[in-house]
Amino acid sequence: MEGSVLIDGSTERHLARLARESGYFQREFNPDPTRTILTQAGINYVPIQDIEMDTGEIATVYSLDLNGDSENKLEEGLISHGNTDEAFATDWAVDANHGYDHLTYYFDSPPTKNDIEKARIINKVKHAIEIGKLQQQFSCRSCGKRVHWTDLMPPTPERENGYKQQIIMLRDQQCSCCNDTDNFDHIAHPNEIDEFIQARPADVMATAHEE
Ligand SMILES: [Zn+2]
Repeated sequence: MEGSVLIDGSTERHLARLARESGYFQREFNPDPTRTILTQAGINYVPIQDIEMDTGEIATVYSLDLNGDSENKLEEGLISHGNTDEAFATDWAVDANHGYDHLTYYFDSPPTKNDIEKARIINKVKHAIEIGKLQQQFSCRSCGKRVHWTDLMPPTPERENGYKQQIIMLRDQQCSCCNDTDNFDHIAHPNEIDEFIQARPADVMATAHEE
């Protein structure tokens, strides 16, 4: 049985930094549509944009008016985070087997498609580490060097996708020197990330077990 793995300080700080870069700071687990959550919390909102994600699904961006009128915990939390009367929420309805799940993410600036995707990937990676699918610290399967995934240098750090390259190295258990750059054309979009994380090559698993 898989236990729950503690997210270590380096991973925590790294994921927090990735989130900050996107203005992302909070999410809701509530399966209801975002507008229902906002209405129930007494928060005024205006839809400002529909963004078509790479998965073909639509993410709706809402501008929130945090006037402090409601005494709802959600609004209090959003206000105290940004110390401001403005925030943004996105509703991403993802196709689940049983229907649609609504992912609600909160941002302190108007999010782009990449920002929304990044918020989802951050959560997926965190979860994958917690359930033991990804190891925060590992021995490179090519050279054996012991590395922490947050120290891996993406081959093209200047690109928006640099953080995904890091996650691929985390999945494939390769250090920065040994990474197979050919693989980086195959960067999974977030709808595939569950499979992406689980579909570690068999030889990686074998190596991991030998150690
Ligand atoms: Zn290596």
